[in-house]
Amino acid sequence: MSQSPAVFLDRDGTLLEEVGYLDRLERLTIFPFSVDGVRLLNRAGFKVVVITNQAGVARGLVEEPFVGEAHSYLAGVFAEGGATIDGWYYCPHHPDAPIEAYRQQCECRKPRPGMIRRAERDLDLDLARSFVVGDRWLDVELARAVGARGVLVRTGYGASEERRPQPGIQADAVVDNLMAAVTWILRHVTQNVERRT
Ligand SMILES: [Mg+2]
Ligand SMILES: [Zn+2]
Repeated sequence: MSQSPAVFLDRDGTLLEEVGYLDRLERLTIFPFSVDGVRLLNRAGFKVVVITNQAGVARGLVEEPFVGEAHSYLAGVFAEGGATIDGWYYCPHHPDAPIEAYRQQCECRKPRPGMIRRAERDLDLDLARSFVVGDRWLDVELARAVGARGVLVRTGYGASEERRPQPGIQADAVVDNLMAAVTWILRHVTQNVERRT
């Protein structure tokens, strides 16, 4: 088996409405296009991997087991729509966390590449043919750091991020939302990817 390209998706503000710290399912709203967008990526042969900073855990605002619970719930919603998320990775840390167990300068908090490196090993990915989609400059910065392409979406914090360009960080595309990002990615796939049947 050759290595697969992947699309790494930020969670809050990209797949889901940004609600501050998501701490219970009642506050979770999935964007209406998220399931269709992921299914299109599946069909185009991409692994789809969620990577999310969850500093709310480090801050004591989100219970760590809830993160897993939310991801199980979402996996069910995607499955019902015929879409598959191939991996879920989160970083519960923060360097200034009030909770000592989570207080660290970790390798996984975006824009550091730890979550992508783990997914690369777990799923045998080709990062040079991969993309990161998110609503923060740190998502684009992460794409750059691992040799992937970075797409900023205007949902979540994206519109305000777009108004505050970061020196040295250039997105490959800035688009309205995840579905527009998927359309952009499918147009910019330069190499053949294996198709799933
Ligand atoms: Mg986000
Ligand atoms: Zn971390």
